[in-house]
Amino acid sequence: MSKRILITGGAGFIGSHLCERLLNENNDVICLDNFFTGSKDNIRHLMSNDHFELVRHDITKEYYAEVDQIYNLACPASPPHYQYNAIKTIKTSVLGVTNMLGLAKRCKARILQASTSEVYGDPHVHPQVESYWGNVNPIGIRSCYDEGKRCAETLMMDYHRQNNVDTRIIRIFNTYGPNMDPNDGRVVSNFIVQALKGEDITIYGDGSQTRSFCYVSDLVDGMIRMMNNEQGFIGPVNLGNPSERTILDFAKLIIEMTNSNSKIVYKPLPGDDPTQRKPDITLANKELGWVPKVDIREGLNKTIEYFATKIQKDEKILVNV
Ligand code: NAD
Ligand code: UDP
Repeated sequence: MSKRILITGGAGFIGSHLCERLLNENNDVICLDNFFTGSKDNIRHLMSNDHFELVRHDITKEYYAEVDQIYNLACPASPPHYQYNAIKTIKTSVLGVTNMLGLAKRCKARILQASTSEVYGDPHVHPQVESYWGNVNPIGIRSCYDEGKRCAETLMMDYHRQNNVDTRIIRIFNTYGPNMDPNDGRVVSNFIVQALKGEDITIYGDGSQTRSFCYVSDLVDGMIRMMNNEQGFIGPVNLGNPSERTILDFAKLIIEMTNSNSKIVYKPLPGDDPTQRKPDITLANKELGWVPKVDIREGLNKTIEYFATKIQKDEKILVNV
């Protein structure tokens, strides 16, 4: 049955894919965004659809609508962007999530919060399981994001216990794909844009830190399964691809796949950069029947094609390092 669905952060990287998929499944979608890191370019192709509505709004302010489901994605996700205005970032996760929970409570909507692997901080348990409470610095440069997202999880659980709000928490691990902002400073966009432009590939630290990359269509599939689960499973649940690699190996893979002459250069490692990250997805598999399907080369090919087209159109693209 068709639903009225609010997607906050809908003009961002993941949100734009979610808007498209839920429209294709015949839902009415309200895409709400303040365009801090999102862009109309990501959703322009949806604007002529009568079932799509775009609202410029900031979730730190109250918002009223009648909806059945809320996907709360609004929050900058790349370290340079969430550190740009750290106070605003934590307000987005605390005030913003409170506003969205108030909305969910009033209209009895189900709400899914886009949490993050960053709630595990620099993890001592590897791979990360949902029962691990994490190792997060509360006063560092990543804290506005990490602690904001941890507090958002607390708010979700307290509204659930105290007010019976129908909540869902997913912990997203590094996700990539088309519609990433070429200038947003994350490793996938930086390396691909640098390789395509023949610029130096900037590795922070010695490149021995690990990440596990999930293609966006796999993630969106997991998000929708979680939202529509009727077995009483509310999470938190990890969603990510367990295929782990070092950042140095990732740089080499991008150079090979883009056939680039770029050289690797080493820059200082930013504070509190996690040394290892890999999701344990046993729970997602058991409760949602979910496993990621897209192989890294297949996903990267699509992403490289996307950035190559973008660079052709806009010569002014600068990498945020
Ligand atoms: P993104 O930066 O592309 O998208 C975030 C969107 O939220 C943007 O469109 C931005 O303009 C909007 N936004 C930011 N603050 C807002 C506010 N106060 N009010 C309204 N809109 C606001 O990032 P993304 O990669 O698409 O991430 C989406 C969500 O998933 C975020 O909550 C992020 O924390 C979470 N997440 C993403 C990843 C990943 O690898 N991409 C990993 C873990 C968690
Ligand atoms: N990184 C890097 N070069 C870049 C951008 C990022 O070496 O140009 C590293 C970063 O220090 C981190 C990893 O790549 O160890 C992933 O960074 P990203 O910002 O994508 O996300 P994170 O997982 O740290 O939130």
